Formats: sequence, structure tokens, C-alpha cells
Amino acid sequence: MELPIADPGTERGEGLLIQCPYCDSEAMHKLAQLLLPGLAAVCVDSTTGDLFKNPSHVAIELRKEMVDYITQRSDTFIADALIESEANQETENEMPEDPFEIVSIFMDDFSSTKRNIIGHVSGWLLSDNREDKIDDFVQEMDMTRFWPLDRREAIAEVLLKNVDIKTKFHCPEKYENEDRLADHKEQCTFRPVACPNGGCRAKVSVRCMKDHDAACPLKVLQCEQSCGKCLLRRDMDRHCVTICPMRPMKCPFGCDSSFPECDLEKHSSVFLQAHLLKVLMVIHKKGHSEEDLKELAEKLEKYDELGKLAKAQDTRSLTNIVKDLEAKMKDEHSN
Ligand SMILES: [Zn+2]
Ligand SMILES: [Zn+2]
Ligand SMILES: [Zn+2]
Ligand SMILES: [Zn+2]
Repeated sequence: MELPIADPGTERGEGLLIQCPYCDSEAMHKLAQLLLPGLAAVCVDSTTGDLFKNPSHVAIELRKEMVDYITQRSDTFIADALIESEANQETENEMPEDPFEIVSIFMDDFSSTKRNIIGHVSGWLLSDNREDKIDDFVQEMDMTRFWPLDRREAIAEVLLKNVDIKTKFHCPEKYENEDRLADHKEQCTFRPVACPNGGCRAKVSVRCMKDHDAACPLKVLQCEQSCGKCLLRRDMDRHCVTICPMRPMKCPFGCDSSFPECDLEKHSSVFLQAHLLKVLMVIHKKGHSEEDLKELAEKLEKYDELGKLAKAQDTRSLTNIVKDLEAKMKDEHSN
């Protein structure tokens, strides 16, 4: 398949100007990701209900047609948009500026020309069955490397430059000769650099590095709950709810307080009286006033020379220790 070529330059005065080739590499990557499900949708829609064809039978042909169509639309995008806005002057028709939105519209337009009779039934377009088929076909194309990412990125780059009216995603600079361009490229804020975070393979335009770094899953960060550990951003959420010693927990004895998990031991020993009372109220349901039970709790604490009670970290183990101690106290009493 032939790749479309980016606009090499524009006449300015006498000489041909050379345009800086750099664009926002993350935006290009994102746009390239859009192309695969776009193609899958066209292939699925155009073969649904056809007994003799499935999506993979038409993929090669439709890929070429789709690339031609969207590249051509992107080529004339600015001119088309101008004509349209003149025609709709009184309505102030806003043209979309987001390249992803624009390219999606191109792909939708192409797709709608390829729908067969079932594709025109509105229920089909919104059905889960269609979504599943598209997802499956995206996976199939991914696995067979039918349309590798680098090939899609080359097309995405052309599309991005064509529809990026506000030059938010590509460098608009043009130069008279290669030397001046080379000087500029060293300074260009669109020049791609490798993300410095270990293991991250993203190439990011210099101007976007701050945003990338603020979201890079492989950035090493301090634990958000300040346990002092350093970990990757992508592991943060799991760490914070599973193993972080600072994760908040509710008192397992049922008092109203919550505290960092690592303070459970401290809480258990400071609030032992209150916890004991709760346990005793369950063990001795009837015939004991709260005063009685408080007295019993104090007695148990004194009797517990080894400090076992304070070490219990949940209701069940505290209950067992209390029962144990009560039995021993009873034994000693009767001896
Ligand atoms: Zn540049
Ligand atoms: Zn990164
Ligand atoms: Zn932590
Ligand atoms: Zn408690």
C-alpha cells in the first residue's frame, strides 16, 4: 500500500520552503489507534448479513479505500471548512478543531457509504452484537499484524498535519534551506524525546513532556498515603487499598473510629476497655448491668498478666481470650 506524503512545503516568495517535520507524537499515536477500530467497523458493517463474506475478506480492499478517502478529505479539509462557513454565515457554523473528532467524522462518513442493508437498520448500529464483532475483528487484525502501528502512524501524521488548523499538534515553521531547518529542529518544541521514566517507551514532544510525566504510568512516586514507600504510578491505587500500612481502616471491634491500618495495634491497646465492654456485653447477654460488666472488664485486665487482651486484633480473638481468662479465674476461685 502506498503511503500518502505530507505536504513538503509551500511557496513563499521565490524559493520553496521546507517545513519542519515534527508533530505532537502522542497525538499522532492516539490518532493511529483510532484507525484500527475505524477500519474494523467498516469491514463488519459492510459484510453483516452476507453469507459469502466476512470482515477479513474485505479488509485489504477497504483499508486502501478508507485511507484514500480520509487522506483526501483531510487534504481539502481547510478549504471545505471555509466554503461551508461562508455558506452558513448567519448560523456561524463552528467547525470542529479537535483532530480526533475530525478524523472520526471522516471515518464515519466513509463507513456510511459502505453499509449494506442490515447496516442501514438503525438498531444494528447501536447493538452490542455489532460492538462485539468490531472488538473481535480489531483483536484479530492486531494479532495478525494486519495493519502495524508504524504504518498507521505514518498515515496519522499526514492526517494530523492536514486537519490541525490551529497548529496545536504540529510545527508550522518553514525554512529556506536544510541548515536553517536543522538549527530550528534542535530547538523545536515539537521535537520528540524519550520519556525518562524507566521502562516507559513513549516518545513525547518536548512541549508535551510535562503533561506526559504528570500521567506517565511508569513514573516513580511517593505513596499518596505517605507511608514513605516509592512506587510506580500504575501500582498506586492497588498499593493504597491493599498493602499500604497507611490505608484507612475501621475499628474491627466496632467502635466508631477509623485510623491507618498500621495503628491497629495501638488503637487496640488504647481502647481495650471499650472493646472489652462490647465483647462482654455479647458474652453475658442477660442479668448484668453495664456497671457490673465494667468492673468485670477491669478485673480481667488486671488478671491478664501476659497482656494477651491488648494483643487481640479482632472481636473473635478477643472473645476467645476473654472466655479463656474467665474460665481460669473461675477455676482458681473454686480451688
Ligand atoms: Zn519545528
Ligand atoms: Zn512515560
Ligand atoms: Zn503507602
Ligand atoms: Zn476501636
